[in-house]
Amino acid sequence: TPAYENEDRALWAAIHQEEDRQQHNIELIASENIVSQGVRAAQGSVLTNKYAEGYPGHRYYGGCEYIDIAENLAIDRAKKLFHAEYANVQPHSGSQANEAAYRAFLHPGDKVLGMDLTAGGHLTHGSPVNFSGKTYTFHSYGVDPVTERIDYEAVRALAEEIHPRMIVAGASAYSRTIDFAKFREIADAVGAYLMVDMAHIAGLVATGAHPSPVPYADVVTTTTHKTLRGPRGGLILAKADYGRAINSAVFPGTQGGPLEHVIAAKAIAFHEAMQPEFKAYIAQVIKNTAVMADYCNAQPGLRVISGGTDNHLFLLDVTGMGVTGREVQDLCDSIAITLNKNTIPGEKNGPFKTSGVRIGAAAITSRGFKEQESLQVAKWIVQAIQQRHDQAALADIRQQVYALTDQLPITR
Ligand code: PLP
Repeated sequence: TPAYENEDRALWAAIHQEEDRQQHNIELIASENIVSQGVRAAQGSVLTNKYAEGYPGHRYYGGCEYIDIAENLAIDRAKKLFHAEYANVQPHSGSQANEAAYRAFLHPGDKVLGMDLTAGGHLTHGSPVNFSGKTYTFHSYGVDPVTERIDYEAVRALAEEIHPRMIVAGASAYSRTIDFAKFREIADAVGAYLMVDMAHIAGLVATGAHPSPVPYADVVTTTTHKTLRGPRGGLILAKADYGRAINSAVFPGTQGGPLEHVIAAKAIAFHEAMQPEFKAYIAQVIKNTAVMADYCNAQPGLRVISGGTDNHLFLLDVTGMGVTGREVQDLCDSIAITLNKNTIPGEKNGPFKTSGVRIGAAAITSRGFKEQESLQVAKWIVQAIQQRHDQAALADIRQQVYALTDQLPITR
């Protein structure tokens, strides 16, 4: 045991317990993933010691010559990976990337049209409890009640009625391909900027498994830690003309010193995402998600929202089995499968109980799950719901989960 662990046993015990939990549990939270050892090492490096306010070549502190190399590598790789003219790698998170993007294009009070939270949008797309909803006048579009997909004609009608200064596309819980060209057309028709928050699908965009928003959007924001499989953080891409405004909205507009150790880890993740192995990984994520969604959709009492999935996640309406999303989340916790309750379009149970759960395959695929294991996971979830009053049956499923996860390390 290293000396620093002996000096702070309570904290290190929690870290090791979390490591153990990640090793034994099956992780289906759609926004999570498992990073490489390189990404972890960069985040634990001496770069965390350094202040570097400003941008490469224009810093407010001395001693930034090596930091500049690392940040420039991150910027160049982000631009290359996504074929973007401009990249800012400094946002501390997806929310801060969105905050800076809004500030670069909008004034407080401006009208913005974004996706409704219960239909799959994110907090930062105008929720009244978030800075976005408090600072700007947000209106929202949802999905068609029958197809449960974005109805572009309805978005167009709303945009023509509201005349927003910006339209935001992108979601946290939408399983279908988003038509960015259509969004561009709608934005042009009403003279609005188009922002795309591709946080969830960034890994798919990187490999071409989802069409890229970069050619269509004025500004693209993302997190780096979901399907992109990098460190927790944010990234902004844009046309070169918007670079100055975005740079100053990030620093000094909304942030101070950049997290250069995280930026170095982003550079590593961008490099990894350009390799053929990553393309194969994303293709497997999509196959694993489809296998789980198809199995669930065929079970009496279960319904996959929109009937299926094109990406790394799907939403499952569980109410037909006599349970709420929250009950399924708790039940899955008891069999060492981690997922989250989620509202579904037209939610009737409210955001605490919910009618659904969200299931994603990014993390299990990083662990080496293929179609066979993914199908097994879906079967365990369904069995657990069916046998929810039988403690012995649940304990038996948990043992089977442990037997599988024991074979697949989380270190990669
Ligand atoms: N945008 C979308 C679409 C997201 O799903 C998320 C995270 O869940 C974010 C932004 C915010 O990212 P962060 O949690 O890093 O602030």
